[in-house]
Amino acid sequence: MSPNTDTAVPAAPNEPDVSSAPDAPDAGDWLVDAALAPLAGGSLAPLYAGAAAGELTLPFCAACGLALELEQRACDGCGATDIRWRPVERAGTVHAATLVHRREPGLVRVTEPYPVLDVELTSGHRLIMTTLTATALAPAIGRPVAIGFRVVGGVTVPAAALDPAAALSNSAALSNSELSEPSEPSDAATPDSPRATGTAPAPVPSETEVSQ
Ligand SMILES: [Zn+2]
Repeated sequence: MSPNTDTAVPAAPNEPDVSSAPDAPDAGDWLVDAALAPLAGGSLAPLYAGAAAGELTLPFCAACGLALELEQRACDGCGATDIRWRPVERAGTVHAATLVHRREPGLVRVTEPYPVLDVELTSGHRLIMTTLTATALAPAIGRPVAIGFRVVGGVTVPAAALDPAAALSNSAALSNSELSEPSEPSDAATPDSPRATGTAPAPVPSETEVSQ
């Protein structure tokens, strides 16, 4: 679903300033306006709280330990409904990549295409995210990535760093900064609404709604 395109948001002179993204999270996100920030509460609150602390926190079955999708309510393996969120290794590989061509002045800050990645994490989760910094190229399938974080409207979201060193410095910058900017709720599906797409052994990639 695309966000309201008739929303009158003044177009700011937003160049895709790569240099400002990792070290200055309060300066704004490289990709989208703060109006497209995801809701930090609700069922994904552990994800966002963890991200704000520089950790990638994802759900597991409390009974058997299977990696679960973000919105999953019952374990595929054992049927248990107890879910435990815990930090995982911030590493994975590109499972699939989509290059999104989208121009929405005032909401989308770049004028070039941007990638949306389906990352297969070492934890067994799959997670949809864009890149840590602006790039108009989709990375190769299978490429290793580290998980860093973007800050959109005060909400911290996972992002794939194609340069692992960048993810580490990005995380350090996050934990040293105060993220006090209030979030603005949006029901728009954006790259900042990460969705798990199933655990690794799934025979067919489950439906991934990337609606940009
Ligand atoms: Zn289970």
